[in-house]
Amino acid sequence: MNQIEKNISDIQDRIEAACLKSNRNKSDVKILLATKTVTPENIKFALNFGIKRIGENKVQELKSKFEALRDIPHESHFIGHLQSNKIKEVIQYAQCIQSVDRWSLAQKLQNRLEYEDKSIDVFIQVNTSNESSKFGIEPEKAVELAMQMKSLNRIRIKGLMTIGLFSPNPELTRPCFKQLKQIQRELLDLDIPVHDLSMGMSNDLETAIEEGSTMIRVGTAVFGKRALPDSYYWNESK
Ligand SMILES: *Cc1c(COP(=O)(O)O)cnc(C)c1O
Repeated sequence: MNQIEKNISDIQDRIEAACLKSNRNKSDVKILLATKTVTPENIKFALNFGIKRIGENKVQELKSKFEALRDIPHESHFIGHLQSNKIKEVIQYAQCIQSVDRWSLAQKLQNRLEYEDKSIDVFIQVNTSNESSKFGIEPEKAVELAMQMKSLNRIRIKGLMTIGLFSPNPELTRPCFKQLKQIQRELLDLDIPVHDLSMGMSNDLETAIEEGSTMIRVGTAVFGKRALPDSYYWNESK
């Protein structure tokens, strides 16, 4: 068995175990492959195992993977920090933007979509770890942003996304996931259809699933270690 195939099968086992533990159905947890730095060949390999969703952090890479993977059916999500001057490009290549975290960005997105007579799926990114190094709207302001965004008819709000606190102890990350779930409940009560909760990565996917994740984003556990630290991909200026 190829290493990627084996890793995917391990992830599926981990999902299954976490679902069993929390009395959930494993088919309710989708996998998104976080494919930053991964070669198109390796992504193709992984997509052949029935996974159909990839996520990129940089617009340049989103575009090059779009071109390299044209002939393979898949869905591409943008999961990196989005600068407004990149909106035009992102909406050409991504079916979903998981990192909408401010009103000014949402408005500019709406304007561009209107201009192109398009619409797009989005998740609102919430900064549940309170780390300034991470993007996302502050949890206290997430409901207000979602309410404002309801008026933007080209934007379909589909879910919430967060990057939990990095910690070797999952119990320290758990409150982040609980908080996202709580915001989801509030928004569902307000008829904002945030059915997806994108939370959980290679190291904390079990905790995220126990707290209600419907989409885990895995990179390292499938493709191995990346050469550069994550802060590089989350840095606005690069
Ligand atoms: C890289 C990345 C992931 C995946 O991280 P791993 O620890 O490699 O699984 C998930 N979400 C975002 C936003 C990322 O940038």
